[in-house]
Amino acid sequence: MTSTPKRGKTTRAPFASRADVFGESVIREMTRLAIRYHAVNLAQGFPDFSCPDELKTAACDAVNADINQYAITWGAQNLREALAAKVSRYNHMEFDPETEITVTCGSTEAMMASMLALITPGDEVIVPEPFYENYGPDAVISGATPRFVPISDSDPVDEDAWRDAFSARTRAIIINTPNNPTGKVFSLEELRFIADLCIDHDVIAVTDEIYEHILYDGRKHHSIGSLPGMEDRTVTIGSFSKTYSVTGWRVGYTLACEALSGRIRKVHDFLTVGAPAPLQAACTVALSLPDSYYHGLARLYESKRQKLFKGLSKAGFRCRLPEGAYYIFTDISDFGMRDKEFARYLVEKGGIAAVPGSSFYHEGGENRLRFTFSKKDSTLDEACHRLRELDIPAD
Ligand code: GLN
Repeated sequence: MTSTPKRGKTTRAPFASRADVFGESVIREMTRLAIRYHAVNLAQGFPDFSCPDELKTAACDAVNADINQYAITWGAQNLREALAAKVSRYNHMEFDPETEITVTCGSTEAMMASMLALITPGDEVIVPEPFYENYGPDAVISGATPRFVPISDSDPVDEDAWRDAFSARTRAIIINTPNNPTGKVFSLEELRFIADLCIDHDVIAVTDEIYEHILYDGRKHHSIGSLPGMEDRTVTIGSFSKTYSVTGWRVGYTLACEALSGRIRKVHDFLTVGAPAPLQAACTVALSLPDSYYHGLARLYESKRQKLFKGLSKAGFRCRLPEGAYYIFTDISDFGMRDKEFARYLVEKGGIAAVPGSSFYHEGGENRLRFTFSKKDSTLDEACHRLRELDIPAD
């Protein structure tokens, strides 16, 4: 008599896959811990305040108007057209909405689809470090070998280190400006220097510009793709998540010449078929908001930046004001704990969730913790209150 295998039992040998090479997202894990310990979540960078009313109305209207089936895989035509106009105005780049703009499920998919579309396993990809944690697994999944080049929170790029990072095997570099987690905003001179390296070595720049409207102290955003010679070798990634406070909508996009976009579109199609149709309709409305909206957003974050900076400084964290984005990347060397232990202590005992610095480095970062200020003033006030109450063991 043959016995039926029990459910859940497998006769297969244990196997390994690429998913075993990288760990879980620490940022998302900290959010789960924040929920478990009823902590103020200053870990994951998303607003706890409302998106603009115009967007809510537009999303409901779209659902009620039966825009509930797949959009065109590359994105709804009117959204791509509105994006082409916005990018021409703000980023000084021209793209054909028919062939060069692809709407994706957030910038997360935009980055992954771009890497899968451009990389042949074994290619090297230059990743400035510290980096947003997704870029590590993105490299593994696409088969790329990452080459890390250090960036400082404020000093100009170390030109020798950048020159050394390029090799005959370099296929792409990842730029992220304004930068997560450091807040660094790359200057035009730095981008020109990097662009020249890309041109000399025939390398593609994949640039994540999701925080392009969150800038402080009069700083200006520059897109490397707008520089001469970069038109056909840049993938610019953007998103609605941070600019319009709709991180859960998952609508982002890539901008690239037709040859690159064609490949990205194929990967995007088989990965997702497309981004949510009614939310694409609402994002088209978002792009018609007046300039005052963007100025208001930067002003709002400016006051939140000051509030959290004061709270952290008073509690003994060494920190500096970021140039852009909405994170403060602190130095915890004065305390007697390393990042993971400290983050655990903070979330369990202090009621505040932050992200351990090491999740932004391939090695190192244990002396840093990242806090976001993308939260209501009342949330930040509560966090500052809890920071004051903390009994942090000093080194
Ligand atoms: N970019 C945000 C952060 O760094 C959100 C990350 C995410 O979970 N998608 O916190």
